[in-house]
Amino acid sequence: MPAMANNLSRGCEVLRQEFSLVADEPMARHTSFKVGGAADLFAAPSSREELIRMVTLARELGVPVSPMGCGTNLLVRDNGIRGLVLSMKKINGKPTLTRISGAESLVTSSSGVILSALARFAMDHGLDGFGFAAGIPGTVGGAVMMNAGTNLGTISESLVSLEILTRDGSVMTVDRRELGFAHRELSFNGIGPGVLVLAANFLLVPGDKESMQANWLAHIEQRQASQPGSGASAGCFFKNPDNGRPAGLLIDQAGLKGRRCGNAMVSEAHGNFIVNLGGATAGEILTLKQMVEKEVKKQFNVDLKPEVKIEGE
Ligand SMILES: Cc1cc2nc3c(=O)[nH]c(=O)nc-3n(C[C@H](O)[C@H](O)[C@H](O)COP(=O)(O)OP(=O)(O)OC[C@H]3O[C@@H](n4cnc5c(N)ncnc54)[C@H](O)[C@@H]3O)c2cc1C
Repeated sequence: MPAMANNLSRGCEVLRQEFSLVADEPMARHTSFKVGGAADLFAAPSSREELIRMVTLARELGVPVSPMGCGTNLLVRDNGIRGLVLSMKKINGKPTLTRISGAESLVTSSSGVILSALARFAMDHGLDGFGFAAGIPGTVGGAVMMNAGTNLGTISESLVSLEILTRDGSVMTVDRRELGFAHRELSFNGIGPGVLVLAANFLLVPGDKESMQANWLAHIEQRQASQPGSGASAGCFFKNPDNGRPAGLLIDQAGLKGRRCGNAMVSEAHGNFIVNLGGATAGEILTLKQMVEKEVKKQFNVDLKPEVKIEGE
C-alpha cells in the first residue's frame, strides 16, 4: 500500500478510536440523491467543542475533512470519500434574536439549524428576510456556502457576518464585506479553503406575519406544481447561465426531458432536475450530466456548470 494511504488509514484509526466514530459509512444514507460510496469516517458532533477537537486532531493527523449539512446539494461518487465526513446538522441550538432598533433585528443561527426552521422562527417574530427560503431543504450552513436562493432572493442579502472555524483551528467572525458571494457560491477571500461555518448573523426588518405566512405557503405550492413529485434529487443540477435562458429551459428545449442513463433520469417535470428513480449509481448520474452538457453545448453553444457539489472518488 502506498505510504500516503497508510498514513491516512493510521490517522483515520486514531480518530475513530478517540471519538468512537463510524467507519465506512455509505454516503447514500446521508444525501438526498441517495447515491454515493462510503466515507472512511463519518461524524455528526453535537457540540461545538467536540467538533473543534475533532477537526483539530484530524488536521494534525493529515486526515482530510469534508464538511456537510443535510447533503441536499451533494453528489458523492461511487467509491466514496477519503478521510472524515463531518455533518454539521447537530450543531443546531435554537436561534437567538437581538432587537437593535424599532426597524432592525439581529438573528443568530448555528450552522446546523434547518433553513426552513430559521425562516419560521423569523416569521413567528414578525421579521422579514427569509421569504426566498420557502421549499429549500438543508441547513443554514449549507445555504450560506451555496448562497442558496430562488427568484425571490438569496441568503446573502440579509447576512451580516459569519462565525467560522479556519483551517488552522481559530474561531473568527468575518464581516459580510469580506465574503465573496456569487450565484450559488461563496468564497472566503484572503482566508483560504477548509473553512467551516459555525454560525451566521442576519439583519432582518419587520414584516406582516400573516402575509409572510400566506406567501410562504403559496411559494411552496408553486414549487410543488413545477418540481418532480417523485425520485430522489439534489434540486437543480446546473447553475443558470449568467445571461439568457435558465438551464431548465435550455434542457427542455434541447429535448432532454425524460432522457435516462440506467436509473438516473432528466425529470419530465423540470428539465434542471436529475432524479434517481431508485438504485441509480453516481456513475449513471454523471454520465447523464455529460450527455446533457454535450447536447446543450451542441444545440445552443452554452456551457452548463453544475450547481450540485460533486465529491469523492
Ligand atoms: C428538492 C430540492 C430543492 C432544492 N431547491 C433549491 C432552491 O430552490 N434553491 C437553492 O439554492 N437550492 C436548492 N436546493 C439545493 C440545496 O437544498 C441547497 O443548496 C441547500 O442550501 C444545501 O444545504 P445542505 O445543508 O443540504 O448542504 P450540503 O448539501 O450538505 O452541502 C452543500 C455544500 O456546502 C458545504 N457545507 C455545508 N455545510 C457547511 C458548513 N457548516 N461549513 C462549511 N461548508 C459546509 C458542503 O461541503 C457542500 O460543499 C434544493 C435541493 C433539493 C433536494
